[in-house]
Amino acid sequence: MDFNLSDDQRQFADLAQKFSQDELAPFAAQWDREHHFPKDVIQRAGELGFCSLYSPLSEGGMGLSRLDSSIIFEQLSMGCTSTTAMLTIHNMVTWMVTSFGTETLRKEWSESLTTGQKLASYCLTEAGAGSDAASLKTKAVREGDEYVISGTKMFISGAGATELLVVMCRTGQDGPKGISAIVVPADAKGVTYGKAEDKMGWNAQPTREITFNQVRVPVTNLLGEEGQGFTFAMKGLDGGRINIAICSVGTAQAALERATQYMQERQQFGKPIATFQALQFKLADMATELVAARQLVRLAAFKLDCGDPEASAYCAMAKRFATDVGFQVCDAALQLHGGYGYLREYPLERYVRDVRVHQILEGTNEIMRLIIARRLLDESAGQIL
Ligand SMILES: Cc1cc2nc3c(=O)[nH]c(=O)nc-3n(C[C@H](O)[C@H](O)[C@H](O)COP(=O)(O)OP(=O)(O)OC[C@H]3O[C@@H](n4cnc5c(N)ncnc54)[C@H](O)[C@@H]3O)c2cc1C
Repeated sequence: MDFNLSDDQRQFADLAQKFSQDELAPFAAQWDREHHFPKDVIQRAGELGFCSLYSPLSEGGMGLSRLDSSIIFEQLSMGCTSTTAMLTIHNMVTWMVTSFGTETLRKEWSESLTTGQKLASYCLTEAGAGSDAASLKTKAVREGDEYVISGTKMFISGAGATELLVVMCRTGQDGPKGISAIVVPADAKGVTYGKAEDKMGWNAQPTREITFNQVRVPVTNLLGEEGQGFTFAMKGLDGGRINIAICSVGTAQAALERATQYMQERQQFGKPIATFQALQFKLADMATELVAARQLVRLAAFKLDCGDPEASAYCAMAKRFATDVGFQVCDAALQLHGGYGYLREYPLERYVRDVRVHQILEGTNEIMRLIIARRLLDESAGQIL
């Protein structure tokens, strides 16, 4: 078992670190303050392949493993959590379209999505269907060669600024088996957008409600077959959870580095606060938990890459643990900055606001526990530990 990064992985990390330091970190505070979505920067990230990291090579993607992708996302999130998180959502949807789309659909969208010239949103949640996503009500009725879609999606990341929507719709019976995934151009007739939600964090990307009023799309916009939508949605989320987990790890790593440096500069009681053992112990705990979180995310990514039957449980464990640790480390780094940590002049309060939502979305951390416990208690489950 070799825990070292390979030469290729180091090169990916270096490339992502350079992009993060040059193109994201210097502007992240301004984007947060001005609620600016840096679409042009995401498109420049696309020129380096960051918009289609694990989409198939045959469709113009980079064809990387989830593990390699997580190494890249970690570096990017050190520069801007919110922008990287949006990039991960775009990667997830691009993977879904390029992996499960019809030939017609792939011809139309693969190139623009994999290069990042066009961006994508993932539309699962509804006002009445959050954690219980399989109870969603948005309906798609087949009429000849078209689907007619009606319903409302809530909390959609990127909405209003993206060009493509993958929409989970009910085409059949109640429950998960009646759900299909349908691609809708974001400017299709009958698609309307709510106001940008006023959020605690993730301010460098819009979150909006989307209403579909008798929206017509060709049947070739269906991913896979009718009834497979929930399976695709959950497969997408396995990878999405690794991505969001590593965004917490990257942000927390940036917070830890800031705190370590600050403790050596800040003097109180006539000496650097780094000389106080209580604070040294705090720093040691932050680093220890962060390393554990990173390794669990990499293990989950490895399980997903290997097609391990218990990969979903590992992705849930990684998401639960890394997003909790990520928040705690960012909060502790803020505390180590004293009053200055609370000022917008320093990035700590933004780190805390940005990673907080990772404990809620792509399945809340309570739902992660539910997924893990269900596998542990299922007699047919494989060996988890
Ligand atoms: C900024 C932001 C961006 C988002 N982006 C997207 C997006 O791009 N696409 C998308 O589809 N969705 C998106 N979401 C939605 C997100 O995935 C949901 O908010 C999340 O799944 C929780 O659903 P809910 O808000 O309805 O909470 P609820 O499901 O109402 O949960 C409320 C509380 O009850 C708990 N709970 C619920 N059921 C159980 C249970 N069985 N056992 C124990 N506890 C339970 C939850 O953990 C939570 O603490 C986004 C949300 C936010 C805030």
